[in-house]
Amino acid sequence: MIRTGQEYLESIDDGREVYINGERVRDLAHHPMFKPLIDIRARIYDMQHDGATRDLLSYRENDAWYAIANRPPRTQQDWWAKRRATDTVLEAIGGVVTRIGDETVGEMWSLFDGQDVLNEVDPRFSTNIRRHIDGVLARDPFHVSANTDPKGDRSKPPQQQDPDMLLHVVRETDSGIVVRGAKYETAAPYANQAFTKPTIGNWGDAALSDYAVGFICDLGSPRLKFICRSGFAGRAGAADYPLANRFDEVDSLVIFDDVLIPWENVLFYRHTRAANYIRSTLHRYSAFAFVQRNLKLADMLIGAALFNARQTGLDKQQAVQEKLAQLAVYREGINAHLTAAITLAERSPGGLLMPNQSLLYSGRVLACSRLHEMMHIARELCGGQICITPDKASFDAPETRPWLDKYYTVNEGWVAEDRRRLLALARDLLNSDYAGHRLTFQLFAQSPPFAHLNAVYRAFDWEGPLQFVRAAAGLSERVLPPGARAPGDGAVAQWYVEHSGAFHQ
Ligand SMILES: Cc1cc2nc3c(=O)[nH]c(=O)nc-3n(C[C@H](O)[C@H](O)[C@H](O)COP(=O)(O)OP(=O)(O)OC[C@H]3O[C@@H](n4cnc5c(N)ncnc54)[C@H](O)[C@@H]3O)c2cc1C
Repeated sequence: MIRTGQEYLESIDDGREVYINGERVRDLAHHPMFKPLIDIRARIYDMQHDGATRDLLSYRENDAWYAIANRPPRTQQDWWAKRRATDTVLEAIGGVVTRIGDETVGEMWSLFDGQDVLNEVDPRFSTNIRRHIDGVLARDPFHVSANTDPKGDRSKPPQQQDPDMLLHVVRETDSGIVVRGAKYETAAPYANQAFTKPTIGNWGDAALSDYAVGFICDLGSPRLKFICRSGFAGRAGAADYPLANRFDEVDSLVIFDDVLIPWENVLFYRHTRAANYIRSTLHRYSAFAFVQRNLKLADMLIGAALFNARQTGLDKQQAVQEKLAQLAVYREGINAHLTAAITLAERSPGGLLMPNQSLLYSGRVLACSRLHEMMHIARELCGGQICITPDKASFDAPETRPWLDKYYTVNEGWVAEDRRRLLALARDLLNSDYAGHRLTFQLFAQSPPFAHLNAVYRAFDWEGPLQFVRAAAGLSERVLPPGARAPGDGAVAQWYVEHSGAFHQ
């Protein structure tokens, strides 16, 4: 029920068509740009078995072990266990990786919640949904998320441009549907399956559409092509760019060149109502693990900035302490949202336990929308030396080493090599090409900022403030009868869902 690292490696050795830098990748697991993350993913599988970490990452039920990350949450304890498991992984690998499965598998629980609604729309696929939820537990696959199409001209429906700009069904066969199009997917080249669904929610008046399709895509399927952006690993020395060389999660444009999706993997098909429903509930669980990454990033920002300030004695200055306090407030703001989202968790329509939705989505906005400011504060606190320090080769070369030893040794506690290491880490966290990519990832990878705000709008209970002001101002009950629902709930929220068109991944 829980895989080993070796079993994972064997599962992706299936001849899939992966391209990077204009070349076909023949040996994925040993390619320098994929190897670091594949090794980390394999290590996480092994950690589930390792006596030192097994009980933190796995649980036992009916004489079998299962991954805590894959467990549909039913109690607050389940959420604490998930949070601890993710922390355990990130602390063991010494950095932040996001798309390793725990952060995307929650999309499946949204499907679980939606079974009744989806069944009502089209009963053919509900057994598929249940089988896939169970299958994740039983097979422990590496699961990722596929939502975003290239989309082309956003002002035109797909029928008025190249129809493949959005993924769609081109024909049905006895064995399944054949789909065509493309999706942007992080980690897909080295994962096992992707929950694939439409990016848009603006279906107009159409009740049925070939574009309203959701399915589990086996990433080893024939006629899939993975065209990856260039990787960061291996471009420059690992000593100078320690994060880029270890934690780059390669994103890919996944081409569906008439790919057959077996009927048993189809989760909804043709009904725009089903597609709308899935889009509006997609991140109700998975946002938790995504936001947890910002907490760990905040810890890295604080650690890098504080070590730099302490090294040079600057932490004694009140103005510096205030900047550090701003980083701490950001960190604790995320911590508070995550903690409260568990503590005030809500029962889902399917009987699972959702993190408190309003708090979780508000926490996601806080975490993602302020990250760039926090990086800038940390950059300022680290000082200009993170971008002008020579590379490790100069610290090692006989002609330059004595000079760099002299100027980079601050005191007996901070010798040149430690200062170089800290500055290299800070550079890769804040200034490098990889650092910029990481910031963009947190901005977009779980939908763009406007969709984050839209989720808050739908989750927040507007009635409390309205009732409070109605009473405070002495407004009549004509304005808002006691107990009436306000925008953000029920029909109004549904109207917003259907008309905003704001359901990017
Ligand atoms: C590093 C990275 C990793 C990613 N990984 C994945 C992945 O694993 N799986 C996946 O499916 N996708 C992934 N994505 C894609 C990501 O979800 C999209 O980039 C995102 O949904 C935005 O879509 P777009 O890039 O096409 O932007 P566009 O649609 O071009 O939008 C650009 C901007 O226009 C504005 N805008 C557009 N539409 C509206 C609107 N209706 N209301 C208000 N403003 C609007 C916003 O400012 C928006 O940010 C990833 C993206 C990045 C950068």
